[in-house]
Amino acid sequence: MSQLKLTRRQFFQVTGAGLGSSSMAVMGLANAADPVFARPAKLEKTTETRSTCPYCSVSCGVLLYSRKDADGKLRVVHVEGDPDNPVNKGTLCAKGAGVLDMIESPSRLKFPEVREPGSNAWKRISWDDAFTRIVKHMKADRDKNFQSKNADGTTVNRWNGFGALISSASNNEAGYLSHKVLRSLGVVALDTQARI
Ligand code: SF4
Repeated sequence: MSQLKLTRRQFFQVTGAGLGSSSMAVMGLANAADPVFARPAKLEKTTETRSTCPYCSVSCGVLLYSRKDADGKLRVVHVEGDPDNPVNKGTLCAKGAGVLDMIESPSRLKFPEVREPGSNAWKRISWDDAFTRIVKHMKADRDKNFQSKNADGTTVNRWNGFGALISSASNNEAGYLSHKVLRSLGVVALDTQARI
């Protein structure tokens, strides 16, 4: 059997070329016309959008990569931590790293629904309809349950028939405004989903 003889320089040239081409393939950067390296780049033709993980009060920054599928529907295809976000500097915990499954879940609720009194079925409604209904219910309940003074005659101005949960995806300013508006209505039962 003949032996392959390589000088030290030739050895590094050969192994370096092999490593380079396989690394290129892993990164999806190799020549697409070459059948060996035909895999497309993972983030090819995607749009990058900055967002915030919705799961907890840490509010890590995430990068969402989306692209249109064969039906022309925009889909998120990849999520990773935002390295420029000072909160998480590119890292995500297991929940945040799995946010893609929540975004693309077939059971995710994407529009308002209502279950009318006496019905056991949920019905889709428009956002305008949803907001109008919410405001009407809030006004009716506040008119009925608002308490200006307690049993001792002390001014309390509270509305205990209503509670609110603020989104953990809110920034400081949105959280501050939500708090001010709800407190001005007399809401006592107020919390943020970030604490759950
Ligand atoms: S759930 Fe995890 S990734 Fe999301 S904000 Fe909290 S710590 Fe960050």
